[in-house]
Amino acid sequence: MLHQTRGRITRDNGAAIDALKKRAAEWEVPLTQEQAGFCFHVWNSKATLYPDETGVTIEISSPEQRLLQTLQGSLTELFEECLLCPKWDEVAEGALAPGMSLMQVVSVTRRSPGFTRVRLEGHDAERFGGDSYHFRLLIPRKGRPPCWPRIAASGRTVWPEGDDALHRPVYTTVAHGQNWLEFDIFEHEGSPTSTWVAEEPVGRTIGIIGPGGGGCPDSENLFLFGDETAVPAITRMLEEAPGNVRAFIQASREDLCELAADQRVSIVSDLLPALEALELCEKAHVWFAGHADQARAARTHLTSRGLQKRDFTAAAYWS
Ligand SMILES: Cc1cc2nc3c(=O)[nH]c(=O)nc-3n(C[C@H](O)[C@H](O)[C@H](O)COP(=O)(O)OP(=O)(O)OC[C@H]3O[C@@H](n4cnc5c(N)ncnc54)[C@H](O)[C@@H]3O)c2cc1C
Repeated sequence: MLHQTRGRITRDNGAAIDALKKRAAEWEVPLTQEQAGFCFHVWNSKATLYPDETGVTIEISSPEQRLLQTLQGSLTELFEECLLCPKWDEVAEGALAPGMSLMQVVSVTRRSPGFTRVRLEGHDAERFGGDSYHFRLLIPRKGRPPCWPRIAASGRTVWPEGDDALHRPVYTTVAHGQNWLEFDIFEHEGSPTSTWVAEEPVGRTIGIIGPGGGGCPDSENLFLFGDETAVPAITRMLEEAPGNVRAFIQASREDLCELAADQRVSIVSDLLPALEALELCEKAHVWFAGHADQARAARTHLTSRGLQKRDFTAAAYWS
């Protein structure tokens, strides 16, 4: 089913289309020109702008309500920056931010010296178990009642600020089932998430928003490189990859748990030398995730070896 909404900007002088063109270039997403309109394609969704003599009509269509609302909010923000205020036929004013779900923390389990596994339950947990692996955990400041992001009358999402601002780290759904999902937190110094999980959050309500980000690349030969923060994503890809997979992980044997016995996994002391030593083959995809500096170096290295953008992923998982 396709979800749709329509908006209108009056008294436009071309600024809306210019802003959309600029955004498409920044995000490296297609902007196509069809008969009477300009189509912006993102998140499997489409926003079409139809200019006329008195303004611009905006039509959004999307396979999911949350993606439609996300695009509606994002376009509202973009046009408001140009002092254009779209009026939408429908706005879910007061609703939780698009893609946000409230979950109960039902268990916290020490999995290894470095990892803690958290299980969440909620009626729509299942949608976090699909092809997009990641979500943002929304952690309220300690001692403050939660104040969740909500959709405003304009269509934009308003995030709590100041003392109510939420900590929003990204995590990976490592296991899921009907009404539940699990994720693994790699604990480290100075981490608000590690502090939160150490405070025994079982029984509390927590927000998560998503899913988003990547899933398993569809490749005959998949080479995975990552540090501890990438272990949950690598675990998923080892389970789901359609072809051959090899993983090179910078983590202790204890923290790899059952992956330590997987013949496809090698423990490495440093990711970049392991990447440089990789013998590439035909029909391969190289996936790399770790510290931002390492991800940047990996991107430079893979590009210098002639890999095209579509043949590799180099993601900054922390900085
Ligand atoms: C797509 C994606 C998926 C991810 N999935 C997971 C996951 O499943 N499990 C997981 O544990 N992490 C995962 N991460 C990484 C996680 O989001 C970061 O480690 C994040 O920084 C954790 O937030 P924080 O509470 O530590 O707060 P932040 O404010 O982000 O960080 C606090 C401090 O900790 C430092 N820091 C952050 N990560 C590390 C680290 N690994 N080692 C040492 N110091 C660090 C930061 O530099 C900063 O000084 C993922 C990241 C991305 C982008």
